[in-house]
Amino acid sequence: MTTFRTTAQLCDHGLAPPEQRAALDAVAARYAVALPPALADLIDPNDPHDPIARQFVPDAAELDHRPEELSDPIGDDAHSPVEGIVHRYPDRVLLKLTPICAVYCRFCFRREMVGPQKGKAMSAEALMHALDYIRSHQQIWEVILTGGDPLVLSARRLRAVMKQLAAIDHVKVLRIHTRVPVAEPARLTAELVRAIKVKGKPTYVALHINHPRELTQAARAACARMADAGLVLLGQSVLLAGVNDTPEVLGDLMRALVECRIKPYYLHHGDLAPGTAHLRTDIATGQDLMRALRGRLSGLCQPTYVLDIPGGHGKSPIGPDYLARTGSNGAAHFVVEDFNGRRHRYPPVG
Ligand code: SF4
Repeated sequence: MTTFRTTAQLCDHGLAPPEQRAALDAVAARYAVALPPALADLIDPNDPHDPIARQFVPDAAELDHRPEELSDPIGDDAHSPVEGIVHRYPDRVLLKLTPICAVYCRFCFRREMVGPQKGKAMSAEALMHALDYIRSHQQIWEVILTGGDPLVLSARRLRAVMKQLAAIDHVKVLRIHTRVPVAEPARLTAELVRAIKVKGKPTYVALHINHPRELTQAARAACARMADAGLVLLGQSVLLAGVNDTPEVLGDLMRALVECRIKPYYLHHGDLAPGTAHLRTDIATGQDLMRALRGRLSGLCQPTYVLDIPGGHGKSPIGPDYLARTGSNGAAHFVVEDFNGRRHRYPPVG
């Protein structure tokens, strides 16, 4: 089986309703489509609410654009000093090597920027300028390769970029954001793993995984190859309506990540990307889910629930809060909530 890239292929294989073909073609004309076999195989075509299909199969609801939605919801463009670099926080930059992904997520916050019709991988000249920018900014401590998905590039290209980054003295940490280990686990060959594991600089790999079913045996084996090689694995998930917005599914996901040596890092509130309202929850739902995780799961399984503030203002944790200050002046004290929801004064006396 090959990667499905058209609505015709999705309809022919029973993964999209043929009667909606015209609307789905309109969606695909605007937002890239790719569904690789590893993920297509996970979809139950008889389940109209399948959580894997919801993430990757185009939906006519994507034509419904809301006034609050933004083409660049997290403000990459406003913080891009040279092609391929986003410098939002002082000590780190994003380096976007390619607009191509192994799979196109229907809720992607960069959906207006990713896909084959949105450009090509960085040219050698653009990469040279981007590296010069990093070299000339001593405060850059961490470089984050993101995308598109950097792991769609060849091992040779990745090795060359990683070596050049590792050679910059003030860059101490490298990070790669990817969905390839679940979308195309076979790409994570020993050669590719060696290419991204550079000597002398720790490399973190942040894996984007939203549903426990994405962690197939092949995906788990790909993660094990990375962990065994000494790469540090982090989990990034997006809270999505109808995909992972129950305590059971979210809890199973976090446990599965930890079992695969992937430390849950962020749970992202859905960004205001165009045509994604049907996949967003509200923040109160997210906070309730976080409370449910706190009450039921090991501390290892707790991500930080974050909102990327529209306009490029960065991420902030959005609760829930367990600590409140009460009283005034000399009588002030805290009230802290435990995992059962019971409140306790702190300090207990005084
Ligand atoms: S893999 Fe990442 S960048 Fe690519 S479509 Fe999915 S969320 Fe967007």
